[in-house]
Amino acid sequence: MRIDVLTLFPAMFAGPLETSILKRAQQRGLLEIVLHAIRDYAMDRHQMTDDLPYGGGVGMVMKPEPVFNAVESLGLPDGRTPIILLSPQGRLLTHRVAKELAAHERLVLICGHYEGFDERIREHLATDELSIGDYVLTGGELAAMVVIDAVARWVPGVLGDAESAERDSFSEGLLEGPHYTRPADFRGWSVPSVLLSGNHAAIAAWRRREALRRTFRRRPALLRNLTLIEEEAAFVRELASAASEPRPDEEGISYEATSDER
Ligand code: SAM
Repeated sequence: MRIDVLTLFPAMFAGPLETSILKRAQQRGLLEIVLHAIRDYAMDRHQMTDDLPYGGGVGMVMKPEPVFNAVESLGLPDGRTPIILLSPQGRLLTHRVAKELAAHERLVLICGHYEGFDERIREHLATDELSIGDYVLTGGELAAMVVIDAVARWVPGVLGDAESAERDSFSEGLLEGPHYTRPADFRGWSVPSVLLSGNHAAIAAWRRREALRRTFRRRPALLRNLTLIEEEAAFVRELASAASEPRPDEEGISYEATSDER
């Protein structure tokens, strides 16, 4: 997969892209990340990339010419490559969106700064707009790095078996349950005995229940879209009826097994 990143500040990417899994993915040729300095595509002699907003107001707006020039210089072969603006107004980056983007051979990410982009970039160049959350960053660079990291995990081969994305939170619609490692007893806090039992079926059942419990407590709305077998649905009903548990029923969550499971 190749990701072209257009930015005013290429130096910001050095640490994250040159470390750990992303570094290894690039070394192995699974991921190619090409940084483009938008300033290099500015046409005037001062290499201006931003200007005052028409109509007045505070802040600077990113000019269209350098961004259009930079994207057009990529010579994208067809209209299928997503050209993505990082923007707090975009659709939210989720597990599903990251996986969907990873299916493309190529992506273009455009990082904004200051007040953001001239609207013509949004209307006539970008094909998508992504936000990494409902807050405003000073620039799109950190957001682009989050997108790259979240997408790269779904590129085949980037994660080894031991790191498999399929077992992480959201993959099965649940948050992942707790993990433990040595020592088995730390300051009197011991590891659940089932994990030391060597009984793989019992361990798998425990992990599934703990994932359900954690999801119920922290993100109950996720359970709404989940297909539970009767035993799991009963476990969730049990959690809901326990006096100390919060009851998220108001959110319309059904703890019944779906019809095809009955
Ligand atoms: N004036 C813009 C608004 O109110 O929507 C915010 C501009 S922000 C200060 C500058 C740039 O940071 C944006 O153009 C965008 O590229 C990036 N940015 C800020 N928050 C972001 C977010 N939550 N997700 C993705 N990119 C973001």
